[in-house]
Amino acid sequence: MTAEVIDGKLVAAEVVEKVTVATKKLIADTGVVPGIAVVIVGEDPASQVYVRSKGKRATECGFHSVTHTLPEETSEADLLKMVESLNNDKDIDAILVQLPLPDHIDEGKVIQTIAPEKDVDGFHFINVGKLGTGETDSAFVPCTPAGSMVLLKKALGKDDLSGLNAIVVGRSNIVGKPMANLLLADNATVTIAHSRTKDLPALAATADILVAAVGRPEMIKAGWVKPGAVVIDVGINRIDAPEKGEGKTRLVGDVAYGESAEVAGAITPVPGGVGPMTIAMLMANTLTSACRRAGVEPPNY
Ligand code: NDP
Repeated sequence: MTAEVIDGKLVAAEVVEKVTVATKKLIADTGVVPGIAVVIVGEDPASQVYVRSKGKRATECGFHSVTHTLPEETSEADLLKMVESLNNDKDIDAILVQLPLPDHIDEGKVIQTIAPEKDVDGFHFINVGKLGTGETDSAFVPCTPAGSMVLLKKALGKDDLSGLNAIVVGRSNIVGKPMANLLLADNATVTIAHSRTKDLPALAATADILVAAVGRPEMIKAGWVKPGAVVIDVGINRIDAPEKGEGKTRLVGDVAYGESAEVAGAITPVPGGVGPMTIAMLMANTLTSACRRAGVEPPNY
């Protein structure tokens, strides 16, 4: 079998198009312009790139977008003050504090200061709790698992996962756990595996849906994949690529892609799979927040 390749770039572009069209309509019907504020502290080059692309995408969607770039030495108190002022800013629907923050700032404290109704990353305890209790209509779901679910449902061609065994490898708060909750909410039978799981290859091979969120390059081999399974590879790992020249690198997922694509029914590539969905779902969450402010039903993705 050769797997269907799940094109995350294409699906992300469809999501962004839907957001752009719905934003135009929201503005025309209600005058509410979705507003997103991205806060970055320090000069980390990777974070700068992420923040720039989030700002660019937000502008393309028709949002009011502001970026606050604060110096590395910004105190925790000053950052908290900025978050509070954004909480009170009527033009801002979405607040995103780019992580990681410098060591002298308590990330947890900053995240819990963001108003839950503007926490489009879905990291606030209120949003985590809502997802855990199935209150997804008023929650924000973290963008990477939300995007993974969109890809999964496209691949399966259905929204209801009744009768399917799903295994999520990884139990982080930003990917593994919310992904497991989303799968459960859609009626999959869910197992969460992690570094202490016994005989992971045999367990993984029972999965109709296999989600890898580990951070270990190409750890999951073809022999771990049930024939015909849908494989969602969240991992993004940079490895040496001497075949491309001295000092060159390339990105790979947590799944050994080539060999697994011979066994799976559908699989996300890296890059070009889950990665592009993360920013797309951030735009979707921002629009959802603005729709809630305007009292309008947000689109489904
Ligand atoms: P974390 O490091 O927070 O979590 C990794 C998880 O994998 C942990 O639960 C850990 O188990 C588990 N794990 C580690 N080694 C093994 C092993 N040998 N066998 C089984 N489980 C193992 O990572 P994240 O969840 O933040 O990210 C996971 C991957 O997803 C990374 O590659 C990251 O770059 C990528 N990512 C991609 C995004 C995107 O936009 N596409 C967004 C976010 C992340 P334990 O808890 O026992 O330590």
